[in-house]
Amino acid sequence: MESNHEFKTAFCTRYEEMLVESKEALEAWTKRREAVWDLGLRGKEYGGELIRLQANFAGAYARLEKHSRECVLCSFVKNLSKQNTKQYRESRIA
Ligand SMILES: [Zn+2]
Repeated sequence: MESNHEFKTAFCTRYEEMLVESKEALEAWTKRREAVWDLGLRGKEYGGELIRLQANFAGAYARLEKHSRECVLCSFVKNLSKQNTKQYRESRIA
């Protein structure tokens, strides 16, 4: 999955922006979660904050997936990379 994402970024700037957004949201959530655990923080406000950060990431990732399905450019590149992978596999078998 990761390599497909990398491949597509060269073609669609909107996709690239959304990819950065979802990466940043994931980092923010992960860092905060680690900090809360490391410091042994307890309480509703920390739980609520982590849920909000997680939802942020889930939303950003869902938008990214939706875009890659609906964007003509991204679909084209996705199909192209699938074809290349298939041809590559077949050429290795032959
Ligand atoms: Zn796109």
